[in-house]
Amino acid sequence: MQNPFQNAMLQLDKVAKLKKARDFGDEFFARLRQPDRDIRISIPIKMDNGSLKIFEGYRVEYNNALGPYKGGIRYHPDTEINEVKALAFWMALKCAVAGIEMGGGKGGITVDPKELSKRELEKLSRGWVQKLSDILGPHKDVPAPDVNTTPEIMDWMADEYEKITGDKTRATFTGKPLGKGGSEGRGPATGLGGFYVFNSLRTQLGLKEKCEIVIQGFGNVGLNAAKIFIENGHKILAISDSKGGVYDLNGLDLNKLIEYKKNNGSLSGFMGSKNVTNEELLEIKCDVLIPAAFENQITDKNADKIKAQVILELANGPLTPEADEILFNKGIQVIPDILANSGGVTVSYFEWEQNLKNENWSEKEVFDKLLPLMNDAAQKTLEKAKESNTHLRMGAFILALERIKTKI
Ligand code: GLU
Repeated sequence: MQNPFQNAMLQLDKVAKLKKARDFGDEFFARLRQPDRDIRISIPIKMDNGSLKIFEGYRVEYNNALGPYKGGIRYHPDTEINEVKALAFWMALKCAVAGIEMGGGKGGITVDPKELSKRELEKLSRGWVQKLSDILGPHKDVPAPDVNTTPEIMDWMADEYEKITGDKTRATFTGKPLGKGGSEGRGPATGLGGFYVFNSLRTQLGLKEKCEIVIQGFGNVGLNAAKIFIENGHKILAISDSKGGVYDLNGLDLNKLIEYKKNNGSLSGFMGSKNVTNEELLEIKCDVLIPAAFENQITDKNADKIKAQVILELANGPLTPEADEILFNKGIQVIPDILANSGGVTVSYFEWEQNLKNENWSEKEVFDKLLPLMNDAAQKTLEKAKESNTHLRMGAFILALERIKTKI
């Protein structure tokens, strides 16, 4: 896999070449090329069979110019320090684009959580907090869910943190379950924020009123996005999980797919719609392609074959810098991750605020606060891109860097 941190730094190099970025100065860019700190830990766990297994964990605190470090924790067998560093860097920019007072951080553990029992998973999650509790805290560093980490895991972590430090605010972790300090609306927030951004830019990007959508990913983000787009009259032509996808020109029936996945563990083998591989899915002709899974899905190898009009990046880093250029030259617009998926961390920020003020906002209140932030971020990103005659990713970078620069 292409090193995601190198990709992130190539993006930064590209923005540094724009005329607009000259005002920022070389020192500012030099500072952004390194995280404030990156921490690797080992977490020894007694497994159910009595053996001892040692897992590698991470927390990268990239930049806190705008507020406490903020960002999720990823559990995945491929998770490693360069991925976590890239994700932490993007978090710093994402919070700035969304206009929330948070910095950027990210964490992870190299593990396939599907291979652990619930007891082992809980021990591992508590173990991560035990090793890192010194650097965490509502005003220092506030983790959240990411790939394969759930509200239940956030609850274990918040509980462990409280046990160690005595802090009862529960504001050190966001994405907690409802009734345990979680916020209404945090579950669908990333998908919904993506939809708000899409809606804000739709006519400006020349998209029609009812779009045909293809989604890569059937996790929290992909699935919620699919539901929200359907509820708003759009059609999902294809969707996939890690094993493969299904495609139907007449539009998919999401409820049937959810049911099938529940019974069979994956979408593969679903009858009634055409089965496609993840590679084929990305190349389907559609109005909007939504990568909602992992990094490096669209690269110099397949960018040329993409037939979408617009790409809405709900995953972090799904396009390589080479793919960006190819798509730009083909006239395919990319709504970048640090804008498109910023609804998740924005509602995390609302959760943190509710915890600190001891309040509980209704789902409507949460969504009413999210909408104007997403609209504003989308329109300012477009403005910045137009000013510099560049694409939306660079526009979002300029917007973020301008905001970080005022506080550094
Ligand atoms: N993991 C999510 C992201 O990549 C959310 C982070 C958060 O809520 O802090 O944006």
